[in-house]
Amino acid sequence: MGVSPLPPWLEGGLDALSTDALHEAALRRVDEAWRRCLEVHPTLPRPGVWFDLRGASAGQAHMGRGGLRFNPILLSDNRAAFFDDVIPHEMAHWLVFHLDDARRFKPHGREWQTVMCELFGLPPRVTHRFDVQKAQPAPYRYRCGCRTHALTPRRHAWVLKGRRYRCRHCQQRLVHTPHAPG
Ligand SMILES: [Zn+2]
Ligand SMILES: [Zn+2]
Repeated sequence: MGVSPLPPWLEGGLDALSTDALHEAALRRVDEAWRRCLEVHPTLPRPGVWFDLRGASAGQAHMGRGGLRFNPILLSDNRAAFFDDVIPHEMAHWLVFHLDDARRFKPHGREWQTVMCELFGLPPRVTHRFDVQKAQPAPYRYRCGCRTHALTPRRHAWVLKGRRYRCRHCQQRLVHTPHAPG
């Protein structure tokens, strides 16, 4: 059983890669992580991989779809963190999903933590400290009399065409305030 983390991704450096090349490299990294899982679970199916996750989540292991989803915006902005941590993190979920009794395990419970530590040699951190502002589906900040609201690009476009939104708490009209605190 290997306990050192997957080696750093050196080939040409991640920062220089185009989006396509980055996704291609991520697929190969998923493959590396999957092969390591085969050492302890030889029948683990190879996961499908999609780069279609939005919002604040970096990744997701999805049993229904049969694979792993990654957030392409966060991937592009946090390349090394994805290769070092996010991909093994989701692969550890994938492995635990396929253990007997998987239904009884908590998502980041003892089994997942054991895979992170003893198979991937990583601290079992649950959250990633990424700047998710760019990846948020509701990036437009509005103020009323009582709080900050986040509007989607679609609703913001309606405002620009003259529609008005009111806060249902204070009834005041929402005003676009780009630098309002989240
Ligand atoms: Zn997780
Ligand atoms: Zn209000």
